[in-house]
Amino acid sequence: MFAEVALNIPLDKTFIYKVPETVSSKPEVGKRVIVPFGKSDFLKTGIIVSLKETSSEIEETYIKEIFDIPDDFVLFTEKNIKLAEEIARRYASAIGEVLFFFLPSGFIIEETSYVYLKRNEHVKGKTEQQIIKYLKSKKGRVKLITLVRAIKGKSTYSTVKNLIRKGIIGKEEDITYTLLPTQKVAVLKEIKPVKGKKELEAIEILKKIKEIPIKDLNKRGISYNTIKRLTNKGIIEIEEREHLIDIKKQVLTDNRKIILTADQKRALNAILNGKNETFLLYGVTGSGKMEVYLHAALETVKKGKSVLILVPELLLTPELRARVESYFGENIVVFHSKLSKKELVSQWLKAVKGKSKVFIGTRMSLMLPIKDLGLIIVDEEQDTSYKEQQKPLYHAREMAVKRGSIEKCPVILVSATPSVESYYRASIEKYRALELKKRVSNIPLPYIKVVNLKEEKRVGIFSESLISAIKNTVKKGEQVLLFINRRGFFSSGFCPKCGFVAECDDCAVPLVYHKNMNRLICHICGKKYKPLFRCPECGTKLEFKGYGTERVEEEVKVLFPDFRIVRLDQDTVKNPTKGAKLIADIKNGNYDIIVGTQIASKGHNFPKLTLVAVLMADTGYLLPDFRSAERTFQTIVHTTGRAGRFKPGAAIIQAFDPENPAVKYAAEYKFDLFYKEEIEARKIFNYPPFSYPVLLEFQIEKTSKFGKIEEKFNILKEKIKPYFNVPPLNPAPIPKVSGRYRFITFMRAATEENLLKGIEILKREMPILFRGVRYRIDVDPVYLL
Ligand code: ADP
Ligand code: ZN
Repeated sequence: MFAEVALNIPLDKTFIYKVPETVSSKPEVGKRVIVPFGKSDFLKTGIIVSLKETSSEIEETYIKEIFDIPDDFVLFTEKNIKLAEEIARRYASAIGEVLFFFLPSGFIIEETSYVYLKRNEHVKGKTEQQIIKYLKSKKGRVKLITLVRAIKGKSTYSTVKNLIRKGIIGKEEDITYTLLPTQKVAVLKEIKPVKGKKELEAIEILKKIKEIPIKDLNKRGISYNTIKRLTNKGIIEIEEREHLIDIKKQVLTDNRKIILTADQKRALNAILNGKNETFLLYGVTGSGKMEVYLHAALETVKKGKSVLILVPELLLTPELRARVESYFGENIVVFHSKLSKKELVSQWLKAVKGKSKVFIGTRMSLMLPIKDLGLIIVDEEQDTSYKEQQKPLYHAREMAVKRGSIEKCPVILVSATPSVESYYRASIEKYRALELKKRVSNIPLPYIKVVNLKEEKRVGIFSESLISAIKNTVKKGEQVLLFINRRGFFSSGFCPKCGFVAECDDCAVPLVYHKNMNRLICHICGKKYKPLFRCPECGTKLEFKGYGTERVEEEVKVLFPDFRIVRLDQDTVKNPTKGAKLIADIKNGNYDIIVGTQIASKGHNFPKLTLVAVLMADTGYLLPDFRSAERTFQTIVHTTGRAGRFKPGAAIIQAFDPENPAVKYAAEYKFDLFYKEEIEARKIFNYPPFSYPVLLEFQIEKTSKFGKIEEKFNILKEKIKPYFNVPPLNPAPIPKVSGRYRFITFMRAATEENLLKGIEILKREMPILFRGVRYRIDVDPVYLL
């Protein structure tokens, strides 16, 4: 028998191996295999993607043999493998790359080269000296790959090779792997007479349950010594058993019993009685969407099937988990990037072994090997965190719909402000629209007032209306949220005389001043700079533009010295313990005014919050991105929706252009008018959902290399012209990242079919045309800057 194996390499091909008699377990599609690879026959982990009786094209004598198939279970279902193939096809990546992107790294067994210093000898070359210095500083052996990464430089590999030949460096090969999670248990073998009291006690325990984890025996007062004596006498034996770790949770319980409203029931029935289609469940925040989808999930589980719930990164809070547990009990699997290597392996195995029916996690949960999937839910489907920014640059929402069609199960996309793409598809009945028209509670939606920043009197960024509303709210003992899109203090200092702007050396974007750290920080690469108050060119005092959370916080403190003010942004919640305490303090009413970014506008419910202000609603509007109107609209709706969850509230939107449709329609709750206008505009300018975009990006070290790249790009253009509209290559709006110049072109295909054909050509031609060049093929891009 022959196995087609996908490996963790960026080549879009699979490899054929012969399956020998000697493997530990039966070959099956989706199982992991250990195979020799490359000239040196290093062992690598692969995944079987298909099995064949004959090797067809390749001559059998050239085919290598599988070294082992270690597990008796599969790591991917056959449907997973189909989905991975779809992702590879659409997002211009390789099947192996996709599978190993999702598979927790704890499953990977690999043979690795290690190097160490053999003789401490004087060498001449600069790279040679660097290598030896590095190895000296490490004392023992280091992974070859770690050394090469540490030294960088193009010739590191060949220099290392030379040093090995000269006998200055030694090299060893080893297999690295993580053991699957197990624990030791005591098993009763044969009852023999014993005298010791503790020994008797242990036998009594084991008589009842036959085997017990050693840890639990210890807890019951049986010491290691007692256990050792019993093993020596042959009464018990110690064995290893699989042990899947449970993810610790913060104690939060939610015991509400919900009886659905008529509106909710209608939506639920549509889902339960529908075919395996995609639903768009939408309605204002508080309209009861989550209760609907949790009910649908519960019905699915009752039928013996499993449910996958995808949520955006910021939404996976303890509150959310408590709510899901109120439906399903504690046996749910959570899956996200903050888990440890071992926890990820455990959670993956729970899916493999059907240990749970309910799976909830971020975009990386898309590929969990759940066997009898009966429902997929994508909550806050418009959220940009569903798009992966590393290879494979998949869009989890789009691929969740794809998984639904592969698994033949329904998919529910959920949102208060659906993406324009999903809304459009619902309007042409590609998806089924389910709208919840009003809030469940009789608390009305917040009254929203729009303030024109150009006309109204203000102190700094605070309009008179806002100042008096803040006073009134805090006087009543209620809370205020001031939303601003950027953390930090000012954005950029500029020289009023010569026009100098403080920019990041590597990224060429304006720096943001963080007063707390007294540093200028690049929000693209994170690089920190000493602050700058005078122009380095002409010595004039720099002027500062823009607002960040820190500047707002400081100005609020001056305006309201008696109020208790707190900042809630990435900088203040970075530390999880401090962040959780901060949020608890806000909930307990220990603060009057919260100055926050998106972090404050998602996921958390603040009971005392009754006034929300969006300080500068339309600044993002000017960005060169076709989705900026959509984002402005979504931000306004989500942020203002935080107000008055538990008693009536109000919101103030400050904008430079109150007539902007995103601002106007959000404030008037005329969502359908916003979508209608936005869809019209997308149609006129041929943006998605009316086209299928690919953002092609090149990163080069020197601008002088651009000519060569452009030349080759024009060759490529000729080949893809039948499928894409291809504008010329231009500098990106963020022209430089980490020292590399970025050039982009925003290509569009008219149909999905053209898109897939075009990508096939990109995948085939680009590695040849652009060898050694850094490029990125971003399909369904969400960031165009
Ligand atoms: P959404 O997801 O649309 O924002 P939720 O499902 O979170 O809305 O509902 C908002 C609040 O109303 C939650 O506290 C929820 O438990 C409660 N709720 C929803 N439906 C009902 C209902 N039928 N009866 C009582 N409370 C409900
Ligand atoms: Zn930078």
